[in-house]
Amino acid sequence: MNDNQHRKLKGQTAIVTGASSGIGQAIAVALAESGANVTVNYHSDEAGAKETEARIEAVSGNCILVKGDIGKEHDVNRLFFQTREAFGDLHILISNAGIQKDSPFLEMSYADWDAVIKTNLYGAFMAANAAAKAFVGQELDEEVSKAAGKIVFISSVHDKIPWSGRVNYATSKGGTKMMMQSIAQELAPYKIRVNSISPGAIETPINEDQRDDEEEVRQMLAKIPYGRIGQPEEIGKAVCWLVSDEADYVTGATLYIDGGMTLYPSFGEG
Ligand code: NAD
Repeated sequence: MNDNQHRKLKGQTAIVTGASSGIGQAIAVALAESGANVTVNYHSDEAGAKETEARIEAVSGNCILVKGDIGKEHDVNRLFFQTREAFGDLHILISNAGIQKDSPFLEMSYADWDAVIKTNLYGAFMAANAAAKAFVGQELDEEVSKAAGKIVFISSVHDKIPWSGRVNYATSKGGTKMMMQSIAQELAPYKIRVNSISPGAIETPINEDQRDDEEEVRQMLAKIPYGRIGQPEEIGKAVCWLVSDEADYVTGATLYIDGGMTLYPSFGEG
């Protein structure tokens, strides 16, 4: 990789929500490696956020850490304020923070429904709304980025695959898909690009319990034609491309990174 490609996000600033572990951590490191200044948002896992910071420093990147609950408007406003105070103009939002609270529908509490929707959908809305307001208030510098701003939602294959026992989660991701497309349609005239990356099974703390159980792993692999679980770094690399000028004509799109999980694998046998 030449230095130009290596630093293709030089001069840009990115916020990554929920960047203290898993996919968010890998995205924050990849963006920093591509030359972006990164705000590492974390909810409560300060040790995880410090680990992200250390990994960013190891690739000679720049970052700040900002604690905050993405489901609370005041915290979201503070996240954007502190980012602009530290780095100036904002170019990229990666809305990644997400949780699961699984239970059969007949037993699902309102509290578990509310918590998942609040973080995964309301949180994504508030962050995207704050990012869009920042983008339209800035002057476009095409030397830095052809687009006035880029938003990427980390959605899930469950924005199109129904998921029994996780109606709260699947609803939050299905909602994210329509939110992404509607925002993309509305903001394209402002030269703001809005897209989703929808991962399949990626090895992170969110599915640690499932991966500890041999039978659950067998069942998981049976749903993945490519025959393996994905790594967070594979999402990080795709994000870097999607927010770069190489993808300047891409808006309103969902990139499924899932080893073929959304290809109806059971039909593979005819
Ligand atoms: P993870 O649990 O490692 O990461 C989730 C992150 O979100 C954590 O850092 C957590 O602290 C943060 N977070 C949770 N609530 C928050 C809040 N209120 N405010 C701010 N941050 C908060 O799991 P992950 O797999 O890395 O998940 C990241 C995203 O990827 C999620 O949106 C998840 O739905 C999505 N996803 C993951 C997979 C997978 O297989 N791992 C598949 C599809 C989609």
